Amino acid sequence: MLGGVPDDKIIEAHGTFKEAYCQKCQEMYDLKWLKDAIFKNDDNVPTCLKCQGVVRPNIVFFGEALPQRFWQHLDQDFQACDCLIVLGTSLAVAPFNGLVAKPSSRKSIRHSGLLFCLFSEHGKIIL
Ligand SMILES: [Zn+2]
Repeated sequence: MLGGVPDDKIIEAHGTFKEAYCQKCQEMYDLKWLKDAIFKNDDNVPTCLKCQGVVRPNIVFFGEALPQRFWQHLDQDFQACDCLIVLGTSLAVAPFNGLVAKPSSRKSIRHSGLLFCLFSEHGKIIL
């Protein structure tokens, strides 16, 4: 649950800091384990309890593939989209810059470098 929204309703396109994984054996770790490992370990590199591989947060770095969950929900979610609010991005990089065109009806408002896009399935603007 994040901000009152259930986890199954949230798609984190750039991954999440809530979990981490071993780059060598894929063992999963939670955020508490990762924080403890970073602050306890003298060299600040958390290592896997099973294989001593490097454990990293489950986020997407530049050049890495976006999570499968992002691609799996892309079409169905935008078909059912009534309101899309995009914040904190210039929308200059694909595939995110193409997302605002996916809902069938839309109106966009740009303000202070942020792009607010409001959509309605029935052509109504939701503010
Ligand atoms: Zn491992």
